[in-house]
Amino acid sequence: MSNPFRDLPSMTKLLDAPALVAARDRHPPATITAAARSALDSLRAKLSSGAALTTSVDALAAQIVAMLDVATAPVLRPVINATGIVLHTNLGRSPIHEEAARAAYEAARGYLNLEMDLASGKRASRQGNVRAGLKAITGAESATAVNNCAAATVIALRAIAAGKEVIVSRGQLVEIGGSFRIPEVMAVSGATLREVGTTNITRVSDYERAITPNTAAVMRVHASNYRVRGYTKSVDLAQLVELGRKHNLTVIDDAGSGQAIDLTPFGLPDEPLVSASIATGADLVLFSGDKLLGGPQCGILAGKAALIQLIEKDPLMRAFRLDKMTLAALEATLRLYRDPALALREVPTLRMLTAPLAALRQRCEAFAEWLRAIPGVTVGVREDVAFVGGGSLPDVGVPTAVLAVSAERISESELATRLRTGTPAVVGRVQDGRVLLDLRCVLEWQEEELLEAVRLAVRE
Ligand SMILES: *Cc1c(COP(=O)(O)O)cnc(C)c1O
Repeated sequence: MSNPFRDLPSMTKLLDAPALVAARDRHPPATITAAARSALDSLRAKLSSGAALTTSVDALAAQIVAMLDVATAPVLRPVINATGIVLHTNLGRSPIHEEAARAAYEAARGYLNLEMDLASGKRASRQGNVRAGLKAITGAESATAVNNCAAATVIALRAIAAGKEVIVSRGQLVEIGGSFRIPEVMAVSGATLREVGTTNITRVSDYERAITPNTAAVMRVHASNYRVRGYTKSVDLAQLVELGRKHNLTVIDDAGSGQAIDLTPFGLPDEPLVSASIATGADLVLFSGDKLLGGPQCGILAGKAALIQLIEKDPLMRAFRLDKMTLAALEATLRLYRDPALALREVPTLRMLTAPLAALRQRCEAFAEWLRAIPGVTVGVREDVAFVGGGSLPDVGVPTAVLAVSAERISESELATRLRTGTPAVVGRVQDGRVLLDLRCVLEWQEEELLEAVRLAVRE
């Protein structure tokens, strides 16, 4: 009987295979050696159990390299969002404008005047570069920014109301997701929550009765991800402002999504604008930078100058402050808002949300032609509903056009998996035996990559 291990390549021979030699430019020698040894070990184990050797040295080397490349690939990778959900928290919410992305990149790769006034050489405020832009979009006396809206809420409550009471309507004690629950946020801040009213009905008199000498503020919270329908009554901001003035209380408005431009002309719901909250008299408005504003992840606080000063002096500011990349990206995003028409045209989130149905359908038709050129692919264009998402207008549907794709001999779920695990990854929706690809959130420069991704997914 011949020795089954005779044809097993030696370690030296395997390591000298061209594929493994070429891999030395991206994997350390020890990693390659360890992978080769473990590949040979498992082959040896197979041979001892009676299997025949079927792989050549080159094929084995190629397998090892493929395995090494997969094992060391970055976990975070670009995704083409074909779900139609514009503010998809799991996919990173807002993609930022090219100029904002470049500003973050430049800030990251070198030094910058983060806290230095270059004219005088003296120390300057870190938030100074975004203050003017934030004041311009909100109309507030002053503004600042922290890591996200959750942080903005915590620091505002702490600075204004630690050790005191804050009145909130029961109907607004929401959980936004990712463990952001108003009662818990309140507890963390050191302020005491004073709930008033019921789930569906809260009146001004409910607030009024709850006021004590220890009350510091009343807070309105945007219900964001749910709606109470039917017999409901809530107190509007103007009434809260009146109440606050009468009793010398700070009025905080947690606006959530932070809409800076009226989107009703595009068929979107009548959401309160942050500038309207300020104009109505809210002392402090809080909102996210990466929801409807379309900027980097951050939380914005806009309002009375004295409150912003108080918040910036809070020790938590040091823990919640923005990093240089975000500050650079936020400044660049805010610059686009100098002209609302420019912002609507250029801010990716706004452009996606306001894309007209006819234009989307046209884009789908053109894309469908390309897809039909791929053998085995069947594609139709149909109308569907896209969602704003992002914890502020979650149930707001926007009419959209989608590509309904299927492939010969591949189930729709298999096709969706292949797309999701490809490079770049593509996330669509599976429905009625098809993979639906909504182009609303597919950026123009991603179209060619999307086409290639479908081509690869059906070929394997
Ligand atoms: C989204 C949201 C938050 C949380 O904002 P993050 O920026 O995700 O921390 C807080 N409050 C409201 C009302 C929201 O809609």
